[in-house]
Amino acid sequence: MTKKQFKAESKRLLDLMIHSIYSNREIFLRELISNASDAIDKIYYKALTDDNLIFQKDDYYIKIVPNKKNRTLTIIDTGIGMTKEELENNLGTIAKSGSLAFKNETELKDGYDIIGQFGVGFYSAFMVADVVTVISKALGETEAYKWESSGADGYTIEPCDKETVGTEITLKLKENTEEENYEEYLEEYRLKSIIKKYSDFIRYPIKMDVTEHKPKEDSENDHEEVKVEQTINSMVPIWRKNKNELTDEDYEKFYAEKHYGFDKPLKSIHVSVDGAVRYNAILYIPEAMPFDYYTKEFEKGLELYSSGVLIMNKCPDLLPDHFSFVKGLVDSEDLSLNISREMLQQDRQLKLIAKNISKKIKNELKTLLKNDREKYEKFYESFGRQLKYGVYSDFGANKEALQDLLLFYSSQDKKLTTLDEYVERMPEDQKYIYYATGESIDRIEKLPQTELVLDKGYEILYFTEDIDEFAIKMLMSYNEKEFKSVSSSDLGFDEADSEKNNEAEENEFKALFDEMKNILADKVKEVRLSKRLKSHPVCLATDGEISIEMEKVLSAMPNNQNVKADKILEINPKHDVFHSLKQAYEQDKDKLALYTNLLYNQALLIEGLPIEDPVEFTNNMCKIMV
Ligand code: ADP
Ligand code: MG
Repeated sequence: MTKKQFKAESKRLLDLMIHSIYSNREIFLRELISNASDAIDKIYYKALTDDNLIFQKDDYYIKIVPNKKNRTLTIIDTGIGMTKEELENNLGTIAKSGSLAFKNETELKDGYDIIGQFGVGFYSAFMVADVVTVISKALGETEAYKWESSGADGYTIEPCDKETVGTEITLKLKENTEEENYEEYLEEYRLKSIIKKYSDFIRYPIKMDVTEHKPKEDSENDHEEVKVEQTINSMVPIWRKNKNELTDEDYEKFYAEKHYGFDKPLKSIHVSVDGAVRYNAILYIPEAMPFDYYTKEFEKGLELYSSGVLIMNKCPDLLPDHFSFVKGLVDSEDLSLNISREMLQQDRQLKLIAKNISKKIKNELKTLLKNDREKYEKFYESFGRQLKYGVYSDFGANKEALQDLLLFYSSQDKKLTTLDEYVERMPEDQKYIYYATGESIDRIEKLPQTELVLDKGYEILYFTEDIDEFAIKMLMSYNEKEFKSVSSSDLGFDEADSEKNNEAEENEFKALFDEMKNILADKVKEVRLSKRLKSHPVCLATDGEISIEMEKVLSAMPNNQNVKADKILEINPKHDVFHSLKQAYEQDKDKLALYTNLLYNQALLIEGLPIEDPVEFTNNMCKIMV
């Protein structure tokens, strides 16, 4: 028998194949099983047009047979088989895909998509085998053939005996090396797990004889090992099933099986899209936050399947960062895969899918917020911060999409409120959406700056997280209402009269305030009369973009740029202390300096800012006591 050489550049290609196309050896099994499944699909398609051929699903299967004694692994299928020519053409020529040709000739039916397309998958067998033997009998032929090759040096073909139509591929596994233990591909548990991982949703049963321990017939304690044929794969993926046939429990079970989390999903989303790009997806919004969620270690992504075969464990491009908490998978027949099927060729379809998915998640969250507030707040507790980051990041590119998903505590009942609800409640004369920042609700409630706003009957949003104010600054306005900090220098009240009053008063005390500003030097930008204080003597207000809360956040960051807010010290003219200030100004400049510094430091304390010199501060306190 003469040995035939692989055609054309096949030798070099084969070498490339074995050494570099795939990053992961175990996928050889995925490739061979996919080919077997394609071969059965082809019979199915033949039967559609051939009245003599009846396709009885139960007759078709794939079987995996490990043989430790011979060190071989055999993959058997009852598919269409290959003629001598086909063995020659399809296996003798690398990068020739009989399946692609078939696909181009046949009109494929939904859900029966042929997997093969590149004509290289078969050769991945050489990553684990020294010798590959293919015995095949084609549908409608009487003769069977054996194709055999030990890699780059060519292959042989000869007639052989085989009763039934189909193909048997036997791999003689390589000797173990230090890095790779090829024998593991003979272990039942390992084979099972590879099949489960990549080929769980192959339409036909993948069978294997699995060892079971059974009690011996005549004894209670003695066990014997018996081989029992099992079907390893689940076959019908849940996402191909009809939504109406599935219950919440089905989705929850799948969530647990897939190890998406230890919790129960808060919401399951099942999508089947038959548009410009066809795909099915099962998405979950988890209830509990993964322990590493807000760390660098956390990796977002969805599982990606192509026609039921796993391509990628975590495809990050399918999820935007602000929805990185979503778990689940996408299966599409329309993906352009690259040759190793480990990566995607080009991402037009993927981008489309990602866009659709993002929209879907947003709408589901909106519905949840509307219909099940309690559940939504639970979700928000875990992942609200991520949504706020989403508003802030990418220069606000997603802010419109996300703004209606935000919740903030507010002075109204101290409950979480949406921006829409806030605006709904605004009295007619209120022009701005007011907010106050602080460590906690308790602390914010005690801020002197909130007094006047609350007194006007306006509601205040309470920002307790670092990100809040940054996100709001990015949002700028909601429903054409601008956001305004209760600490901003101008609260924007509509009060022409009192304004005039203040102006008159301000002029009167200008000399005093100028003197105080001199004492404080560049610690503050200005000292002035307060329009917002009622019972407190002083507070700090800010001018410009940086608020005091932002200053705190920024200065806590590594390599902070020492960004400071422009602070304004506001004095309450109705407070008794004001009288003392005036007196000191007229009679005792040292006293004025003492009072001014004390008041300034008090204002810092109220804001939760550190006072620059605590020792001096306490000494000053004592001075006035004595
Ligand atoms: P692809 O699956 O991308 O077409 P492969 O290298 O995996 O490429 O397979 C090459 C060709 O060999 C297939 O297109 C198919 O025509 C043929 N083939 C491989 N395995 C089988 C099999 N088990 N039964 C029938 N034909 C097969
Ligand atoms: Mg293939």
